[in-house]
Amino acid sequence: MRIALIAHDEQKDTLVEFARAHADVLATHDLLATGTTGKRLNEETDLTVERKSSGPLGGDMQIGAEVVNGDCHGVVFLRDPLTAQPHEPDISALMRICDVHDVPLATNPAGAAHVVEGIGEAP
Ligand code: PGA
Repeated sequence: MRIALIAHDEQKDTLVEFARAHADVLATHDLLATGTTGKRLNEETDLTVERKSSGPLGGDMQIGAEVVNGDCHGVVFLRDPLTAQPHEPDISALMRICDVHDVPLATNPAGAAHVVEGIGEAP
């Protein structure tokens, strides 16, 4: 399976911590991330993460395209609920397209644990 990991700046520490805590199961999947999130994960965990463009430059849309194509099977998207983002339309589009294609989407760590552990280890 292929899982996308995205975090806004205020949530990146939380996502790194989450990725470390769930590294065993995450390591069995293909992982992709928006640019800066992927850089942090590659540098600060033992996971290998494919990096798309940074979110504000279109990374969320690149991940959305994978969802549309059936190539991305789960999305962890730790949004900052307290800060306005310049790419809000892209964020909404990614969440919408996950709903259109019934792809599991989590926007906080508790939900993310369910998504990642629910998808389970790749056979
Ligand atoms: P980033 O993008 O990982 O490049 O910071 C995340 C986002 O803002 O959607």
